[in-house]
Amino acid sequence: MKETAEVVIIGSGIVGASAAHFLAKKGWKDIVVIDQGPLFEAGFSTGGSTSHAPGLVFELNASKTICQLAQWSVETYRSLSFEDQPCFYSVGSFEIAYSSERLEELKIKWGRAHAWGLKAELLTREQTLQRVPLLNPSQIFGSLSVPSDGVAKALRAVQALAWASRGNVEFISNTEVLGIETAKEQQRKQICGVTTSRGKIKTSRVLVCAGIWGPRIGKMVEVPIPLVPVQHHYVRTAPVKELTNQTAEVVYPILRNQDHGLYFRQYYDTIGIGSYSHEPVLVDPDLIGENAKRPLKQEDFHKAFANACHLLPCLEGAKFAESFNGLFSFTLDGNPLVGESDEVKGFWMAEGVWVTHGPGVGRVVAELMNGELPKVDLRELDANRFDRHALSPSYARVRGAQQFREVYDIIHPLQQIEDPRPLRVSPFYSRQKELGAVFFESNGWERPQWYESNSSLPKDESWPVREGWNARYWSPIIGQEHKATREAVALFDLSAFSKFEVSGPGALNYLQNISANQINQKVNKIVYTAMLNSAGGIMCDLTITRRSENRFWVVTGGGVGTHDRGWMLKQLRQDQNHHSVQFTDLTSSFCCLGVWGPSARALLQSVSESDFSNEAFPLFTAKEIFIGYVPALALRMSYVGELGWEIYVPAEYGAHLWDLLWQAGQCFGVIAAGGGAFDSLRLEKGYRLWGADIHSEYNPYEAGLGFAVKLENRDFIGKSALVALGKGSSRRKLSCMIIEDEKIILLGKEPVFLPARKESTSPISAGNAIGYVTSANYGYTVGKSIAYAYLPSEYAQIGLELEVAYLGQRYRAYVAPEPLYDPSHARMKR
Ligand code: FAD
Repeated sequence: MKETAEVVIIGSGIVGASAAHFLAKKGWKDIVVIDQGPLFEAGFSTGGSTSHAPGLVFELNASKTICQLAQWSVETYRSLSFEDQPCFYSVGSFEIAYSSERLEELKIKWGRAHAWGLKAELLTREQTLQRVPLLNPSQIFGSLSVPSDGVAKALRAVQALAWASRGNVEFISNTEVLGIETAKEQQRKQICGVTTSRGKIKTSRVLVCAGIWGPRIGKMVEVPIPLVPVQHHYVRTAPVKELTNQTAEVVYPILRNQDHGLYFRQYYDTIGIGSYSHEPVLVDPDLIGENAKRPLKQEDFHKAFANACHLLPCLEGAKFAESFNGLFSFTLDGNPLVGESDEVKGFWMAEGVWVTHGPGVGRVVAELMNGELPKVDLRELDANRFDRHALSPSYARVRGAQQFREVYDIIHPLQQIEDPRPLRVSPFYSRQKELGAVFFESNGWERPQWYESNSSLPKDESWPVREGWNARYWSPIIGQEHKATREAVALFDLSAFSKFEVSGPGALNYLQNISANQINQKVNKIVYTAMLNSAGGIMCDLTITRRSENRFWVVTGGGVGTHDRGWMLKQLRQDQNHHSVQFTDLTSSFCCLGVWGPSARALLQSVSESDFSNEAFPLFTAKEIFIGYVPALALRMSYVGELGWEIYVPAEYGAHLWDLLWQAGQCFGVIAAGGGAFDSLRLEKGYRLWGADIHSEYNPYEAGLGFAVKLENRDFIGKSALVALGKGSSRRKLSCMIIEDEKIILLGKEPVFLPARKESTSPISAGNAIGYVTSANYGYTVGKSIAYAYLPSEYAQIGLELEVAYLGQRYRAYVAPEPLYDPSHARMKR
């Protein structure tokens, strides 16, 4: 065994083998992959999940990035073979609908597939039965077929990958990693070695690809890896009569029947059946032992098998050749954990990954380790994306189990978690409950989405009434709150916003270096800025207020706060003057109310002796004030496009502040308004939302944020990329579209097409989407159904006719000038 290595990869399942392969392809030479199980010996495998997985690959995912990782995985599997045997069978997939709700979901999935560039076909009941004759015809409503899906031979792929990387990668079997050594560096711990059952290896990097054992490895360096191992029922039948004489390993398409929690694949003349239709059985990572397999009691599969026989009558009477309970990982949100720990330098993770995404994840983690920028935004996979509470083992158990339960459920994009709640509440919470707030959850925070008490507010009869899918987790009250905000004044609880204080002699230079906008402003000036990666991709967008020469107040959205803090701290660690910068997270110390609307000034003036006039308190400035007795930091800005202030106060004054503004506000028509109104207000004002309209795949110019880039006389991360890109030369542009039929209100992620009649004259192949919707909502003031999408520049022309697909149908849309509401900002400046 080697004594030193460039990297030690723990785990030789599909993820570890893939990562080793991609690192070797990049020229890394001293790669060691250690596994506690046997490797590459006839009839043996590591004992990890990869050893047991039947390898069904359904590429489509609600996340564009995760779908891309699956597509890259298929590309890799297809390119591999071992001993002349393929590692992928491209047999296609069918997801069968057994209810009208499922069929509706499949239509949405069809839209997403097109949005993400994955070919998919919606089939009627008859077409489905024609293509999959083994199905019982009763109860079928239709299906979704993805021809590029199939079966991955994951173990074979591990061997092929190991063979392909020989010379650069040493695979060590039957060797357990017992400990990881770290040394204290200036700011955080640094990996310096690995202790195994066969000796020590010096290394500065460890990559954990230990699957269900990941949390145990995390403990070795005190880095929580938030996932839970869950048992999963799987059986393979004895030969089935209808498949007699079937000598090919896999020729039948894979099937998914979510309505009964089942999936199917063929092996020669037998059928494999997996079932999620049982309560999750979690296993403590410390008690797994060396094998991810547990016995399965026949009676535990009884109901699933009865359902399976109903769906595939050829299974009737079949015996089981093999049955087991296989363990695999469920993370808190179902997405993998990829990247370097923020806490321990050199501690990398690629955890919670399915066979479907193994090689794709291997590829991106190798890119990250090699210092490259991945081609896809990794926010949904970031290993550091969870806030502290979510790293508790009990949170992982509750959320991991729920992920298992919901794995095949119809999940609406606005569906909320139910447990654990409530976890983080603002000081306004009890007042909000009294007003009938309907809460959404964001990063543990309870955030009002609308208030039932507003149901009697005036509404506009012309507003479309939502029905079905897009009426879920929605209320018409949202429109009423929207209108009241535009016409009077509303209190928005912004306490979940992340607030950081950056101070010290090096603070300005540090912020200048990571901000695309000019931060060197007069004291109390507020600046909206993006922070970019070296390719000019938008990593965060936030506001920075200079509070004094060397003190800055930084505010970013609640849902992205952990991400943004992680990015800023990472840059700080790399700043040579980091010793002279203090970064303090004040999120929990301060609550915040957005007081927005035309009467905001009058309301605030009525409870404060400070001067809120335009002259004394101009737009985009800040002031320390008193509201009654309450000391507050007031920032004059508004994400809803109206006159108003964000009022930050120490949390203990929150309830008093609310009562004061509520009572004084009655004569100004004050309401409490929620996140639903917030979103439709911001969208008609054209304000971008990070994680939807903008993220690292887009630069500020194409995102329409060029106004917030200041290149002159300064340097910052991403500047050279922006200079090279040139201001006016974007190949795509974030564009505002109006859906002609205003009753069609989209939710985001829908594909955008050229009108069918124009497709033949376009260089884009007919039927291929030219973009996808990043944000959508109804604009209650402008009276339009709005959708934003990045369009190729040649199609981002005002007035151009396009089509958007919703629930499987295409609807006409037009590119519109933006913002739709108050382009001169007169309302905010008044
Ligand atoms: P593993 O394959 O578990 O590899 C981790 C390795 O780390 C193991 O080999 C283990 O021995 C090693 N290790 C752990 N701790 C140590 C240590 N301390 N020292 C040394 N070595 C260590 N996914 C799909 O995409 N499609 C499917 O159809 C599918 N079906 C499944 C069906 C079943 C029954 C099961 C169990 C899983 C299924 N999965 C499926 C999930 C998939 O198999 C896993 O998510 C995937 O294989 C995980 O790969 P991995 O490389 O991360 O982990």
